Amino acid sequence: MAPATGAHIIADSLRSLGVSTIFGIVGIPVIEIAEEARKVGIQFIGFRNEQAASYAATAYGYLTGKPGVCLVVGGPGVLHAIAGVGNSSANAWPLLLLAGSSETDLVSRGAFQELDAISLLAPHTKLALRPPGLDSIQSTLENAYRTSWYGRPGTAFVDLPANLIKGTMPNPSELPRLLPPPDPPKPGADPAKLFKITTLLKSAASPLVVIGKGAAYSQSEEPIRALIDQTQIPFLPTPMGKGVLPDSHPLNTASARSTALKNADVVLILGARLNWILHFGSPPKWRPNVKFIHIDISAEEIGKNAPRSADWGVVGDIGVVVPQLSAALKGWSYSSRPVDQSSRSFLHLLQTAKTKNKAAAAAKLDSGGKGRMTIATALSIIERTLHRLSPPERGSIVYISEGANTMDISRSTFPLAHPRLRLDAGTHATMGVGLGYAIAAHAAYNSSTAEARSGPGAERKKIVCIEGDSAFGFSAMEVETMARCGMDVLVFVVNNGGVYHGDADERGEWDRLRKQEHGGEGEGLRSTSLGFETRYEMIAEAVGGKEFFVRTAEELERATEEGYKEGRVCVVNVVVESGKEGKLEFGWQGNGGKKDGDG
Ligand code: ADP
Repeated sequence: MAPATGAHIIADSLRSLGVSTIFGIVGIPVIEIAEEARKVGIQFIGFRNEQAASYAATAYGYLTGKPGVCLVVGGPGVLHAIAGVGNSSANAWPLLLLAGSSETDLVSRGAFQELDAISLLAPHTKLALRPPGLDSIQSTLENAYRTSWYGRPGTAFVDLPANLIKGTMPNPSELPRLLPPPDPPKPGADPAKLFKITTLLKSAASPLVVIGKGAAYSQSEEPIRALIDQTQIPFLPTPMGKGVLPDSHPLNTASARSTALKNADVVLILGARLNWILHFGSPPKWRPNVKFIHIDISAEEIGKNAPRSADWGVVGDIGVVVPQLSAALKGWSYSSRPVDQSSRSFLHLLQTAKTKNKAAAAAKLDSGGKGRMTIATALSIIERTLHRLSPPERGSIVYISEGANTMDISRSTFPLAHPRLRLDAGTHATMGVGLGYAIAAHAAYNSSTAEARSGPGAERKKIVCIEGDSAFGFSAMEVETMARCGMDVLVFVVNNGGVYHGDADERGEWDRLRKQEHGGEGEGLRSTSLGFETRYEMIAEAVGGKEFFVRTAEELERATEEGYKEGRVCVVNVVVESGKEGKLEFGWQGNGGKKDGDG
Protein backbone atom coordinates (compact mmCIF):
# COMPACT_ATOMS: atom_id res chain seq x y z
CA MET A 1 0.00 0.00 0.00
CA ALA A 2 1.27 3.52 -0.85
CA PRO A 3 2.28 5.89 1.95
CA ALA A 4 -0.55 8.11 3.19
CA THR A 5 -0.41 11.77 4.14
CA GLY A 6 -1.80 13.08 7.40
CA ALA A 7 -4.45 14.91 5.37
CA HIS A 8 -5.57 11.61 3.84
CA ILE A 9 -5.68 9.81 7.19
CA ILE A 10 -7.79 12.66 8.64
CA ALA A 11 -10.25 12.56 5.71
CA ASP A 12 -10.40 8.78 5.72
CA SER A 13 -11.03 8.70 9.48
CA LEU A 14 -13.86 11.22 9.14
CA ARG A 15 -15.46 9.12 6.44
CA SER A 16 -15.12 5.99 8.60
CA LEU A 17 -16.83 7.83 11.47
CA GLY A 18 -19.79 8.47 9.17
CA VAL A 19 -19.16 12.11 8.29
CA SER A 20 -20.78 13.03 4.97
CA THR A 21 -20.51 16.83 4.95
CA ILE A 22 -17.94 19.35 6.14
CA PHE A 23 -18.64 23.08 6.46
CA GLY A 24 -15.71 25.46 6.46
CA ILE A 25 -13.20 27.70 4.76
CA VAL A 26 -9.88 26.42 3.50
CA GLY A 27 -6.45 28.03 3.58
CA ILE A 28 -2.98 26.92 4.60
CA PRO A 29 -2.65 24.27 6.01
CA VAL A 30 -6.11 22.69 5.72
CA ILE A 31 -6.67 22.78 1.93
CA GLU A 32 -5.25 19.27 1.65
CA ILE A 33 -7.70 17.97 4.24
CA ALA A 34 -10.69 19.39 2.33
CA GLU A 35 -9.38 18.02 -0.96
CA GLU A 36 -8.72 14.58 0.50
CA ALA A 37 -12.21 14.66 2.04
CA ARG A 38 -13.71 15.33 -1.38
CA LYS A 39 -11.73 12.42 -2.81
CA VAL A 40 -13.15 10.01 -0.23
CA GLY A 41 -16.72 11.17 -0.96
CA ILE A 42 -17.31 13.79 1.72
CA GLN A 43 -19.05 16.95 0.51
CA PHE A 44 -17.17 20.14 1.43
CA ILE A 45 -19.24 23.33 1.60
CA GLY A 46 -16.93 26.34 1.40
CA PHE A 47 -18.21 29.50 3.11
CA ARG A 48 -17.24 33.17 3.01
CA ASN A 49 -16.75 33.57 6.76
CA GLU A 50 -15.94 30.96 9.40
CA GLN A 51 -18.64 32.36 11.65
CA ALA A 52 -21.40 31.33 9.24
CA ALA A 53 -19.67 28.00 8.54
CA SER A 54 -19.47 27.16 12.22
CA TYR A 55 -23.11 28.14 12.75
CA ALA A 56 -24.06 25.91 9.81
CA ALA A 57 -22.23 22.94 11.30
CA THR A 58 -24.09 23.34 14.61
CA ALA A 59 -27.46 23.47 12.84
CA TYR A 60 -26.54 20.42 10.78
CA GLY A 61 -25.85 18.62 14.08
CA TYR A 62 -29.29 19.62 15.36
CA LEU A 63 -31.15 18.60 12.20
CA THR A 64 -29.41 15.27 11.69
CA GLY A 65 -28.91 14.25 15.33
CA LYS A 66 -25.20 13.63 14.64
CA PRO A 67 -22.17 15.90 15.03
CA GLY A 68 -21.82 18.65 12.42
CA VAL A 69 -18.22 19.09 11.27
CA CYS A 70 -16.49 22.42 10.65
CA LEU A 71 -12.98 22.81 9.19
CA VAL A 72 -11.09 26.10 9.47
CA VAL A 73 -7.55 27.47 9.38
CA GLY A 74 -5.70 28.29 12.60
CA GLY A 75 -5.45 31.70 14.30
CA PRO A 76 -8.08 34.00 12.83
CA GLY A 77 -10.08 31.06 11.44
CA VAL A 78 -10.42 29.65 14.94
CA LEU A 79 -11.31 33.05 16.37
CA HIS A 80 -14.14 33.47 13.85
CA ALA A 81 -15.36 29.94 14.46
CA ILE A 82 -15.63 30.53 18.20
CA ALA A 83 -19.09 31.91 17.41
CA GLY A 84 -20.14 28.37 16.47
CA VAL A 85 -18.51 26.92 19.58
CA GLY A 86 -20.60 29.27 21.72
CA ASN A 87 -23.69 28.39 19.70
CA SER A 88 -23.09 24.68 20.10
CA SER A 89 -22.71 24.83 23.86
CA ALA A 90 -25.57 27.30 24.37
CA ASN A 91 -27.98 25.17 22.33
CA ALA A 92 -26.54 21.77 23.30
CA TRP A 93 -25.91 20.77 19.66
CA PRO A 94 -23.05 18.48 18.64
CA LEU A 95 -20.14 20.11 16.80
CA LEU A 96 -16.75 18.73 15.82
CA LEU A 97 -14.47 21.68 15.09
CA LEU A 98 -11.23 20.93 13.24
CA ALA A 99 -8.59 23.60 12.77
CA GLY A 100 -5.17 23.72 11.21
CA SER A 101 -2.28 25.21 13.15
CA SER A 102 1.34 26.15 12.63
CA GLU A 103 4.16 23.60 12.59
CA THR A 104 4.82 22.39 16.11
CA ASP A 105 8.54 23.25 15.92
CA LEU A 106 7.66 26.89 15.16
CA VAL A 107 5.34 27.36 18.14
CA SER A 108 6.18 30.49 20.16
CA ARG A 109 8.43 31.82 17.38
CA GLY A 110 5.76 33.94 15.73
CA ALA A 111 4.65 31.36 13.17
CA PHE A 112 2.05 31.92 10.44
CA GLN A 113 -1.39 32.34 12.08
CA GLU A 114 0.02 31.05 15.34
CA LEU A 115 -2.49 30.65 18.16
CA ASP A 116 -2.63 28.33 21.15
CA ALA A 117 -6.13 27.22 20.20
CA ILE A 118 -6.21 24.34 22.67
CA SER A 119 -5.71 26.66 25.65
CA LEU A 120 -8.19 29.10 24.18
CA LEU A 121 -10.94 26.57 23.53
CA ALA A 122 -10.45 24.06 26.36
CA PRO A 123 -12.70 25.95 28.81
CA HIS A 124 -15.47 26.28 26.21
CA THR A 125 -15.55 22.78 24.76
CA LYS A 126 -16.21 19.26 26.03
CA LEU A 127 -12.79 18.20 24.76
CA ALA A 128 -9.86 19.94 23.04
CA LEU A 129 -7.12 17.69 21.66
CA ARG A 130 -4.12 17.58 19.34
CA PRO A 131 -3.08 14.18 17.96
CA PRO A 132 0.53 13.64 19.02
CA GLY A 133 1.42 11.78 15.81
CA LEU A 134 0.07 10.31 12.59
CA ASP A 135 -0.77 7.01 14.22
CA SER A 136 -3.06 8.68 16.77
CA ILE A 137 -5.15 10.74 14.31
CA GLN A 138 -7.84 8.07 14.16
CA SER A 139 -8.27 7.63 17.89
CA THR A 140 -8.19 11.39 18.52
CA LEU A 141 -10.89 12.05 15.91
CA GLU A 142 -13.00 9.15 17.13
CA ASN A 143 -12.75 10.35 20.72
CA ALA A 144 -13.63 13.93 19.78
CA TYR A 145 -16.52 12.95 17.49
CA ARG A 146 -18.05 10.67 20.13
CA THR A 147 -17.57 13.16 22.96
CA SER A 148 -19.33 15.98 21.10
CA TRP A 149 -22.29 13.66 20.59
CA TYR A 150 -22.74 11.55 23.73
CA GLY A 151 -24.36 12.86 26.93
CA ARG A 152 -25.39 16.50 26.51
CA PRO A 153 -24.15 17.43 23.04
CA GLY A 154 -21.57 20.20 22.66
CA THR A 155 -18.28 20.99 20.93
CA ALA A 156 -15.16 18.87 20.65
CA PHE A 157 -12.13 20.53 19.11
CA VAL A 158 -9.16 18.95 17.31
CA ASP A 159 -6.06 20.99 16.53
CA LEU A 160 -4.19 19.74 13.46
CA PRO A 161 -0.64 21.09 13.07
CA ALA A 162 0.71 21.67 9.56
CA ASN A 163 3.52 19.12 10.01
CA LEU A 164 0.96 16.45 10.93
CA ILE A 165 -1.25 17.28 7.93
CA LYS A 166 1.70 17.19 5.54
CA GLY A 167 3.49 14.26 7.20
CA THR A 168 3.47 10.83 5.56
CA MET A 169 2.96 7.41 7.02
CA PRO A 170 4.87 4.74 5.07
CA ASN A 171 2.58 1.83 5.97
CA PRO A 172 -0.99 3.05 6.62
CA SER A 173 -2.30 -0.50 6.25
CA GLU A 174 -1.05 -1.11 9.78
CA LEU A 175 -3.64 1.32 11.14
CA PRO A 176 -6.63 -0.38 12.78
CA ARG A 177 -10.00 -0.21 11.03
CA LEU A 178 -12.04 2.70 12.38
CA LEU A 179 -15.78 2.12 12.85
CA PRO A 180 -18.55 4.68 13.38
CA PRO A 181 -19.46 4.88 17.08
CA PRO A 182 -22.88 3.45 17.90
CA ASP A 183 -25.69 5.92 18.62
CA PRO A 184 -25.40 7.55 22.07
CA PRO A 185 -26.48 5.45 25.07
CA LYS A 186 -30.06 6.22 26.08
CA PRO A 187 -30.67 6.01 29.82
CA GLY A 188 -34.18 5.48 31.22
CA ALA A 189 -35.98 6.09 34.52
CA ASP A 190 -35.90 3.62 37.41
CA PRO A 191 -39.28 2.18 38.50
CA ALA A 192 -39.38 3.99 41.87
CA LYS A 193 -38.86 7.35 40.18
CA LEU A 194 -41.45 6.52 37.54
CA PHE A 195 -43.99 5.71 40.23
CA LYS A 196 -43.24 8.97 41.98
CA ILE A 197 -43.67 11.17 38.95
CA THR A 198 -46.73 9.44 37.56
CA THR A 199 -48.39 9.77 40.99
CA LEU A 200 -47.61 13.49 40.92
CA LEU A 201 -48.93 13.88 37.38
CA LYS A 202 -52.15 12.07 38.20
CA SER A 203 -52.72 14.31 41.21
CA ALA A 204 -52.25 17.54 39.24
CA ALA A 205 -55.19 19.91 38.86
CA SER A 206 -53.62 21.77 35.94
CA PRO A 207 -50.79 19.74 34.35
CA LEU A 208 -48.79 20.96 31.39
CA VAL A 209 -46.15 19.36 29.15
CA VAL A 210 -43.41 21.67 27.84
CA ILE A 211 -41.79 20.44 24.63
CA GLY A 212 -38.37 21.92 23.89
CA LYS A 213 -35.79 21.71 21.14
CA GLY A 214 -34.09 18.85 23.03
CA ALA A 215 -37.21 16.82 22.21
CA ALA A 216 -36.91 17.81 18.56
CA TYR A 217 -33.19 16.96 18.57
CA SER A 218 -33.86 13.55 20.13
CA GLN A 219 -36.32 12.74 17.30
CA SER A 220 -38.89 11.53 19.83
CA GLU A 221 -41.97 12.94 18.11
CA GLU A 222 -43.76 9.59 17.93
CA PRO A 223 -43.61 8.66 21.63
CA ILE A 224 -44.40 12.25 22.64
CA ARG A 225 -47.44 12.28 20.39
CA ALA A 226 -48.55 8.97 21.90
CA LEU A 227 -48.13 10.32 25.44
CA ILE A 228 -50.15 13.49 24.74
CA ASP A 229 -52.91 11.66 22.87
CA GLN A 230 -53.16 9.09 25.62
CA THR A 231 -53.03 11.42 28.64
CA GLN A 232 -54.80 14.43 27.08
CA ILE A 233 -52.49 16.81 28.96
CA PRO A 234 -52.17 20.23 27.27
CA PHE A 235 -48.73 21.00 25.89
CA LEU A 236 -46.66 24.07 25.13
CA PRO A 237 -43.86 24.00 22.56
CA THR A 238 -40.88 26.32 22.97
CA PRO A 239 -39.92 28.28 19.82
CA MET A 240 -37.86 25.42 18.40
CA GLY A 241 -39.95 22.71 20.04
CA LYS A 242 -42.68 23.81 17.62
CA GLY A 243 -43.67 21.04 15.24
CA VAL A 244 -42.70 18.08 17.46
CA LEU A 245 -46.48 17.90 17.68
CA PRO A 246 -48.50 19.69 14.99
CA ASP A 247 -49.44 23.27 15.86
CA SER A 248 -52.99 22.33 14.92
CA HIS A 249 -53.22 19.72 17.71
CA PRO A 250 -56.21 20.60 19.93
CA LEU A 251 -54.09 20.38 23.09
CA ASN A 252 -51.53 22.90 21.84
CA THR A 253 -51.55 25.89 24.21
CA ALA A 254 -49.08 28.06 22.29
CA SER A 255 -51.67 30.72 21.69
CA ALA A 256 -52.50 30.77 25.40
CA ARG A 257 -48.92 30.66 26.59
CA SER A 258 -49.11 33.17 29.44
CA THR A 259 -52.26 31.56 30.80
CA ALA A 260 -50.73 28.08 30.62
CA LEU A 261 -47.59 29.15 32.48
CA LYS A 262 -49.45 31.14 35.09
CA ASN A 263 -51.90 28.36 35.96
CA ALA A 264 -50.02 25.08 35.56
CA ASP A 265 -49.40 23.30 38.86
CA VAL A 266 -47.36 20.30 37.61
CA VAL A 267 -45.17 20.66 34.54
CA LEU A 268 -43.48 17.85 32.66
CA ILE A 269 -40.48 19.30 30.83
CA LEU A 270 -39.25 17.35 27.82
CA GLY A 271 -35.98 18.72 26.43
CA ALA A 272 -36.11 22.34 27.54
CA ARG A 273 -34.30 24.34 30.20
CA LEU A 274 -35.70 26.68 32.82
CA ASN A 275 -33.65 29.55 31.41
CA TRP A 276 -34.72 32.93 30.03
CA ILE A 277 -36.92 31.31 27.40
CA LEU A 278 -39.03 29.75 30.16
CA HIS A 279 -38.65 32.69 32.55
CA PHE A 280 -36.41 30.68 34.91
CA GLY A 281 -39.43 28.69 36.11
CA SER A 282 -40.17 31.54 38.53
CA PRO A 283 -42.99 33.95 39.43
CA PRO A 284 -44.54 36.14 38.18
CA LYS A 285 -44.75 34.12 34.94
CA TRP A 286 -45.19 30.82 36.82
CA ARG A 287 -47.10 29.95 39.99
CA PRO A 288 -44.90 30.21 43.10
CA ASN A 289 -45.45 26.56 44.07
CA VAL A 290 -45.37 24.96 40.60
CA LYS A 291 -43.74 21.50 40.52
CA PHE A 292 -41.45 20.60 37.63
CA ILE A 293 -40.81 17.05 36.44
CA HIS A 294 -37.69 17.57 34.40
CA ILE A 295 -36.55 14.90 31.94
CA ASP A 296 -33.09 15.74 30.63
CA ILE A 297 -30.03 13.91 29.34
CA SER A 298 -27.87 16.17 31.51
CA ALA A 299 -27.81 15.59 35.27
CA GLU A 300 -26.64 19.16 35.91
CA GLU A 301 -29.88 20.49 34.47
CA ILE A 302 -32.03 18.76 37.06
CA GLY A 303 -33.10 21.21 39.75
CA LYS A 304 -31.50 24.19 38.03
CA ASN A 305 -33.59 27.26 38.87
CA ALA A 306 -36.09 24.96 40.61
CA PRO A 307 -34.17 23.21 43.41
CA ARG A 308 -37.37 22.07 45.14
CA SER A 309 -38.31 20.11 42.04
CA ALA A 310 -34.98 18.25 41.81
CA ASP A 311 -36.55 15.21 43.42
CA TRP A 312 -38.86 14.61 40.46
CA GLY A 313 -36.15 15.04 37.83
CA VAL A 314 -35.02 12.15 35.67
CA VAL A 315 -31.64 11.93 33.99
CA GLY A 316 -32.69 10.11 30.89
CA ASP A 317 -33.28 10.14 27.18
CA ILE A 318 -36.67 11.46 26.15
CA GLY A 319 -36.98 8.65 23.60
CA VAL A 320 -36.79 6.09 26.43
CA VAL A 321 -38.42 7.88 29.36
CA VAL A 322 -41.52 9.06 27.48
CA PRO A 323 -42.61 5.53 26.45
CA GLN A 324 -41.94 4.46 30.06
CA LEU A 325 -44.28 7.24 31.23
CA SER A 326 -46.95 6.22 28.71
CA ALA A 327 -46.80 2.65 29.96
CA ALA A 328 -46.93 3.72 33.61
CA LEU A 329 -49.92 6.02 32.91
CA LYS A 330 -51.80 3.42 30.90
CA GLY A 331 -55.55 3.73 31.37
CA TRP A 332 -55.31 7.22 32.87
CA SER A 333 -56.11 10.44 31.13
CA TYR A 334 -56.42 14.00 32.38
CA SER A 335 -59.73 14.61 30.66
CA SER A 336 -61.38 11.58 32.23
CA ARG A 337 -60.10 12.01 35.75
CA PRO A 338 -62.92 11.77 38.24
CA VAL A 339 -62.07 14.82 40.37
CA ASP A 340 -63.65 17.39 38.19
CA GLN A 341 -64.08 21.05 38.35
CA SER A 342 -60.36 21.80 38.54
CA SER A 343 -59.44 20.11 35.29
CA ARG A 344 -62.42 21.56 33.58
CA SER A 345 -61.53 25.03 34.75
CA PHE A 346 -57.89 24.79 33.54
CA LEU A 347 -58.97 23.61 30.10
CA HIS A 348 -61.65 26.28 30.04
CA LEU A 349 -59.15 29.00 30.98
CA LEU A 350 -56.83 27.86 28.19
CA GLN A 351 -59.62 27.76 25.65
CA THR A 352 -60.84 31.24 26.56
CA ALA A 353 -57.33 32.67 26.32
CA LYS A 354 -56.73 30.97 22.96
CA THR A 355 -59.93 32.43 21.50
CA LYS A 356 -59.17 35.91 22.83
CA ASN A 357 -55.55 35.96 21.69
CA LYS A 358 -56.36 34.66 18.22
CA ALA A 359 -59.00 37.37 17.80
CA ALA A 360 -56.54 40.03 18.97
CA ALA A 361 -53.88 38.83 16.52
CA ALA A 362 -56.37 38.85 13.65
CA ALA A 363 -57.52 42.37 14.55
CA LYS A 364 -53.93 43.54 14.55
CA LEU A 365 -53.43 42.20 11.05
CA ASP A 366 -56.64 43.83 9.81
CA SER A 367 -55.58 47.20 11.15
CA GLY A 368 -52.27 46.95 9.29
CA GLY A 369 -53.82 46.93 5.84
CA LYS A 370 -53.22 50.53 4.83
CA GLY A 371 -50.11 52.21 3.49
CA ARG A 372 -46.81 50.35 3.73
CA MET A 373 -46.86 46.79 4.89
CA THR A 374 -45.95 46.16 8.53
CA ILE A 375 -43.73 43.23 9.49
CA ALA A 376 -46.82 41.32 10.62
CA THR A 377 -48.79 41.93 7.42
CA ALA A 378 -45.79 41.07 5.25
CA LEU A 379 -45.21 37.80 7.11
CA SER A 380 -48.86 36.88 6.90
CA ILE A 381 -48.85 37.43 3.12
CA ILE A 382 -45.78 35.21 2.81
CA GLU A 383 -47.46 32.60 5.00
CA ARG A 384 -50.73 32.65 3.06
CA THR A 385 -48.93 32.27 -0.24
CA LEU A 386 -46.65 29.47 0.91
CA HIS A 387 -49.57 27.73 2.61
CA ARG A 388 -51.39 27.66 -0.71
CA LEU A 389 -48.31 26.30 -2.52
CA SER A 390 -47.41 23.74 0.13
CA PRO A 391 -49.68 23.19 3.14
CA PRO A 392 -47.90 22.52 6.46
CA GLU A 393 -49.05 18.86 6.59
CA ARG A 394 -46.71 18.12 3.72
CA GLY A 395 -43.74 19.23 5.78
CA SER A 396 -41.89 20.38 2.71
CA ILE A 397 -40.79 23.83 3.88
CA VAL A 398 -38.04 24.56 6.41
CA TYR A 399 -38.35 28.00 8.00
CA ILE A 400 -35.32 29.82 9.27
CA SER A 401 -36.03 33.10 10.95
CA GLU A 402 -33.99 35.72 12.73
CA GLY A 403 -34.07 39.41 13.52
CA ALA A 404 -35.74 40.68 16.68
CA ASN A 405 -39.26 41.48 15.52
CA THR A 406 -39.15 39.42 12.35
CA MET A 407 -38.29 36.32 14.36
CA ASP A 408 -40.74 37.01 17.15
CA ILE A 409 -43.67 37.61 14.85
CA SER A 410 -42.81 34.79 12.48
CA ARG A 411 -42.86 32.30 15.33
CA SER A 412 -46.62 32.49 15.55
CA THR A 413 -47.25 33.25 11.86
CA PHE A 414 -46.00 30.04 10.22
CA PRO A 415 -47.78 26.90 11.39
CA LEU A 416 -45.82 23.65 11.50
CA ALA A 417 -47.02 20.09 11.37
CA HIS A 418 -43.66 18.33 11.70
CA PRO A 419 -40.51 18.68 13.80
CA ARG A 420 -37.13 20.23 12.95
CA LEU A 421 -38.61 22.49 10.29
CA ARG A 422 -37.99 25.74 12.11
CA LEU A 423 -34.68 27.22 13.20
CA ASP A 424 -34.21 30.56 14.89
CA ALA A 425 -31.68 32.49 16.95
CA GLY A 426 -31.99 29.90 19.73
CA THR A 427 -30.72 29.96 23.29
CA HIS A 428 -27.96 32.48 22.60
CA ALA A 429 -30.43 34.76 20.78
CA THR A 430 -27.66 35.06 18.19
CA MET A 431 -28.28 37.19 15.13
CA GLY A 432 -26.32 36.28 12.01
CA VAL A 433 -27.11 32.55 12.13
CA GLY A 434 -29.80 32.59 9.44
CA LEU A 435 -27.95 32.12 6.17
CA GLY A 436 -25.58 29.53 7.64
CA TYR A 437 -28.58 27.64 9.03
CA ALA A 438 -30.31 27.79 5.65
CA ILE A 439 -27.26 26.25 3.97
CA ALA A 440 -27.12 23.58 6.69
CA ALA A 441 -30.82 22.81 6.22
CA HIS A 442 -30.37 22.53 2.47
CA ALA A 443 -27.45 20.15 2.92
CA ALA A 444 -29.23 18.15 5.63
CA TYR A 445 -32.50 17.70 3.72
CA ASN A 446 -31.69 18.03 0.03
CA SER A 447 -28.15 17.00 -0.82
CA SER A 448 -27.20 13.61 -2.21
CA THR A 449 -25.94 12.73 1.27
CA ALA A 450 -29.06 14.09 3.03
CA GLU A 451 -29.16 12.77 6.59
CA ALA A 452 -32.12 14.66 8.11
CA ARG A 453 -35.72 13.52 8.08
CA SER A 454 -38.99 15.21 8.94
CA GLY A 455 -42.53 14.96 7.65
CA PRO A 456 -44.36 12.21 5.85
CA GLY A 457 -42.44 11.82 2.61
CA ALA A 458 -38.91 11.88 1.42
CA GLU A 459 -39.57 14.84 -0.86
CA ARG A 460 -36.98 17.61 -0.95
CA LYS A 461 -37.67 20.67 1.09
CA LYS A 462 -37.79 24.32 0.17
CA ILE A 463 -35.64 26.33 2.53
CA VAL A 464 -37.25 29.67 3.37
CA CYS A 465 -35.08 32.12 5.24
CA ILE A 466 -36.85 35.08 6.79
CA GLU A 467 -34.37 37.71 7.87
CA GLY A 468 -34.60 41.11 9.48
CA ASP A 469 -32.45 43.61 7.55
CA SER A 470 -30.02 43.83 10.45
CA ALA A 471 -29.75 40.03 10.82
CA PHE A 472 -29.23 39.59 7.06
CA GLY A 473 -26.25 41.93 7.17
CA PHE A 474 -24.25 39.65 9.46
CA SER A 475 -23.67 37.08 6.75
CA ALA A 476 -25.20 38.40 3.52
CA MET A 477 -22.22 37.19 1.48
CA GLU A 478 -23.33 33.61 2.10
CA VAL A 479 -25.90 34.19 -0.66
CA GLU A 480 -22.91 33.59 -2.95
CA THR A 481 -22.26 30.28 -1.16
CA MET A 482 -25.87 29.28 -1.83
CA ALA A 483 -25.61 30.24 -5.50
CA ARG A 484 -22.27 28.48 -5.98
CA CYS A 485 -23.57 25.31 -4.33
CA GLY A 486 -26.78 25.35 -6.38
CA MET A 487 -29.02 25.87 -3.35
CA ASP A 488 -32.44 27.28 -4.29
CA VAL A 489 -32.97 28.99 -0.91
CA LEU A 490 -35.72 31.61 -0.79
CA VAL A 491 -34.50 34.54 1.34
CA PHE A 492 -36.79 37.34 2.49
CA VAL A 493 -35.18 40.47 3.89
CA VAL A 494 -37.83 42.20 5.97
CA ASN A 495 -36.49 45.69 5.59
CA ASN A 496 -37.54 48.38 8.03
CA GLY A 497 -34.23 50.22 7.78
CA GLY A 498 -33.06 49.56 11.29
CA VAL A 499 -32.24 47.38 14.27
CA TYR A 500 -35.50 46.48 16.08
CA HIS A 501 -37.71 49.20 14.67
CA GLY A 502 -35.68 51.51 12.48
CA ASP A 503 -36.42 55.18 12.68
CA ALA A 504 -39.67 55.68 10.87
CA ASP A 505 -41.97 55.26 13.82
CA GLU A 506 -40.36 57.95 15.90
CA ARG A 507 -39.19 60.32 13.22
CA GLY A 508 -42.36 60.12 11.19
CA GLU A 509 -40.74 60.22 7.79
CA TRP A 510 -37.75 58.58 6.22
CA ASP A 511 -36.63 61.32 3.85
CA ARG A 512 -36.01 63.92 6.52
CA LEU A 513 -33.86 61.50 8.45
CA ARG A 514 -31.97 60.68 5.34
CA LYS A 515 -31.15 64.32 4.74
CA GLN A 516 -29.82 64.63 8.28
CA GLU A 517 -27.58 61.68 7.56
CA HIS A 518 -26.00 63.72 4.81
CA GLY A 519 -25.07 66.68 6.98
CA GLY A 520 -28.39 68.42 7.60
CA GLU A 521 -29.72 69.80 10.87
CA GLY A 522 -30.66 67.68 13.85
CA GLU A 523 -29.14 64.77 15.67
CA GLY A 524 -28.96 62.50 12.62
CA LEU A 525 -28.91 58.76 12.70
CA ARG A 526 -29.60 56.81 15.86
CA SER A 527 -27.66 53.74 16.89
CA THR A 528 -30.53 51.61 15.59
CA SER A 529 -30.51 53.16 12.11
CA LEU A 530 -29.60 51.13 9.06
CA GLY A 531 -29.58 52.18 5.41
CA PHE A 532 -32.89 53.41 4.11
CA GLU A 533 -34.37 51.03 1.55
CA THR A 534 -30.98 49.42 0.98
CA ARG A 535 -31.17 47.24 -2.14
CA TYR A 536 -30.25 43.98 -0.42
CA GLU A 537 -31.80 41.94 -3.24
CA MET A 538 -29.06 42.98 -5.64
CA ILE A 539 -26.66 40.53 -4.05
CA ALA A 540 -28.79 37.79 -5.64
CA GLU A 541 -28.40 39.39 -9.04
CA ALA A 542 -24.66 39.67 -8.50
CA VAL A 543 -24.29 35.92 -7.94
CA GLY A 544 -26.63 34.65 -10.63
CA GLY A 545 -29.71 34.25 -8.46
CA LYS A 546 -33.04 36.02 -8.75
CA GLU A 547 -33.90 39.31 -7.05
CA PHE A 548 -37.20 40.94 -6.07
CA PHE A 549 -37.81 44.40 -4.61
CA VAL A 550 -41.33 44.73 -3.23
CA ARG A 551 -43.34 47.40 -1.49
CA THR A 552 -46.94 46.22 -1.82
CA ALA A 553 -48.93 43.19 -0.79
CA GLU A 554 -49.54 42.21 -4.42
CA GLU A 555 -45.85 42.44 -5.29
CA LEU A 556 -44.93 40.40 -2.24
CA GLU A 557 -47.45 37.69 -3.06
CA ARG A 558 -46.14 37.44 -6.61
CA ALA A 559 -42.50 37.40 -5.51
CA THR A 560 -43.21 34.71 -2.91
CA GLU A 561 -44.85 32.46 -5.47
CA GLU A 562 -42.17 33.01 -8.10
CA GLY A 563 -39.39 32.67 -5.54
CA TYR A 564 -40.88 29.43 -4.20
CA LYS A 565 -40.92 27.91 -7.68
CA GLU A 566 -37.54 29.28 -8.77
CA GLY A 567 -34.66 26.83 -8.96
CA ARG A 568 -32.02 29.40 -7.96
CA VAL A 569 -31.29 31.33 -4.79
CA CYS A 570 -33.72 34.26 -4.51
CA VAL A 571 -33.59 37.36 -2.36
CA VAL A 572 -36.86 39.21 -1.83
CA ASN A 573 -36.32 42.66 -0.35
CA VAL A 574 -39.56 43.50 1.44
CA VAL A 575 -39.83 47.17 2.37
CA VAL A 576 -42.01 47.52 5.48
CA GLU A 577 -42.82 50.34 7.82
CA SER A 578 -42.05 50.25 11.50
CA GLY A 579 -45.37 49.59 13.12
CA LYS A 580 -46.28 48.96 16.73
CA GLU A 581 -44.76 45.54 16.61
CA GLY A 582 -41.44 47.35 16.28
CA LYS A 583 -41.40 47.64 20.04
CA LEU A 584 -40.97 43.97 20.82
CA GLU A 585 -44.36 43.66 22.39
CA PHE A 586 -44.76 40.06 21.24
CA GLY A 587 -41.62 39.27 23.18
CA TRP A 588 -40.86 35.65 23.88
CA GLN A 589 -37.43 37.19 24.17
CA GLY A 590 -36.14 38.99 27.25
CA ASN A 591 -38.96 41.42 26.97
CA GLY A 592 -37.85 44.11 29.33
CA GLY A 593 -41.07 44.26 31.28
CA LYS A 594 -43.22 44.68 28.19
CA LYS A 595 -46.35 42.66 27.66
CA ASP A 596 -45.69 38.95 27.31
CA GLY A 597 -47.75 37.99 24.33
CA ASP A 598 -49.05 34.60 23.45
CA GLY A 599 -48.27 32.61 20.39
P1 ADP B 1 -35.50 25.21 24.39
O1 ADP B 1 -34.63 26.26 23.78
O2 ADP B 1 -36.46 24.61 23.43
O3 ADP B 1 -36.14 25.70 25.65
P2 ADP B 1 -33.13 24.04 25.48
O4 ADP B 1 -32.07 24.11 24.46
O5 ADP B 1 -33.07 25.09 26.55
O6 ADP B 1 -34.56 23.98 24.79
O7 ADP B 1 -33.06 22.64 26.20
C1 ADP B 1 -32.84 21.44 25.53
C2 ADP B 1 -32.51 20.41 26.57
O8 ADP B 1 -32.69 19.12 25.98
C3 ADP B 1 -31.08 20.47 27.07
O9 ADP B 1 -31.07 20.65 28.47
C4 ADP B 1 -30.49 19.12 26.68
O10 ADP B 1 -29.61 18.61 27.65
C5 ADP B 1 -31.74 18.27 26.56
N1 ADP B 1 -31.63 17.10 25.68
C6 ADP B 1 -31.03 17.01 24.48
N2 ADP B 1 -31.18 15.77 23.97
C7 ADP B 1 -31.91 15.07 24.87
C8 ADP B 1 -32.39 13.73 24.91
N3 ADP B 1 -32.17 12.87 23.93
N4 ADP B 1 -33.10 13.33 26.01
C9 ADP B 1 -33.32 14.22 27.03
N5 ADP B 1 -32.89 15.49 27.03
C10 ADP B 1 -32.20 15.91 25.97
